Amino acid sequence: VTETGKATGGEVYLVGAGPGDPDLLTFRALRLMQKADVVLYDRLAPPELLDEVPADALLINAGKAPGRQALTQDETNAALVEHGLAGKRVVRLKGGDPYVFGRGGEEAMALAEAGVPCTVIPGITSAIAGLNAGGIPITHRGVAVSFAVVTGHEDPTKPESQADWQRLATATDTLVVLMGVGNLDAISAALIAGGRAPSTPAALVQQAATPGQRVVTAPLSEIAETARTENIQSPALFVVGDVVA
Ligand code: SAH
Repeated sequence: VTETGKATGGEVYLVGAGPGDPDLLTFRALRLMQKADVVLYDRLAPPELLDEVPADALLINAGKAPGRQALTQDETNAALVEHGLAGKRVVRLKGGDPYVFGRGGEEAMALAEAGVPCTVIPGITSAIAGLNAGGIPITHRGVAVSFAVVTGHEDPTKPESQADWQRLATATDTLVVLMGVGNLDAISAALIAGGRAPSTPAALVQQAATPGQRVVTAPLSEIAETARTENIQSPALFVVGDVVA
């Protein structure tokens, strides 16, 4: 796989854009952006990064926000395939790391099926670096020796929920929940029902690693109410564990 693209076929790069601060991009990602013909970017990719692409590059907003979408996943996959087959150097810019709830695997599979070369460039995930920006270390000697990262997109009270909150409740010292803002009541109740102490320190980091960052903390049993009072909105990281203190 070359970064210069091929004469006959294009190439698609699924690129991690980091946790929010545009400076937290890899050199590899920056070099690819500076040579891109087409850039599909998502809502969580820092908008400042679009200044790095060539002036004649085609910019496509593939952003997803809760409840509304610029492009559906199928349309995004189709656009990646189309531009790849047209011989373009395509950068698909995704918040954090492409493989952490970023649907990078799905896009890579769609490209593989279409015979379009694809490379996945890792990014710094918000799950770790977003907590860091909020002053919270995901591990700490003597306090937390393990962590789990889970999606809170599914309502834990629904039978079809795939996350096993009962086991997650006490499985690791630190628990980080992405996409959980809409389900905080149900998630914190499920964790307490699963054996996590109601007094466990918890926090929400909204718009981590950006100028709009806000951090709120409360015991696990009160964090959902605190989030409402403080009007915490997506995107935010929900973290439970003694590292918060
Ligand atoms: N691939 C991304 C995660 C995509 S899922 C990564 O590795 O970071 C989207 C969720 O990530 C959001 O709902 C939010 O929970 C979290 N997230 C991403 N960027 C964030 C940021 N700057 N601040 C707070 N949360 C963020």
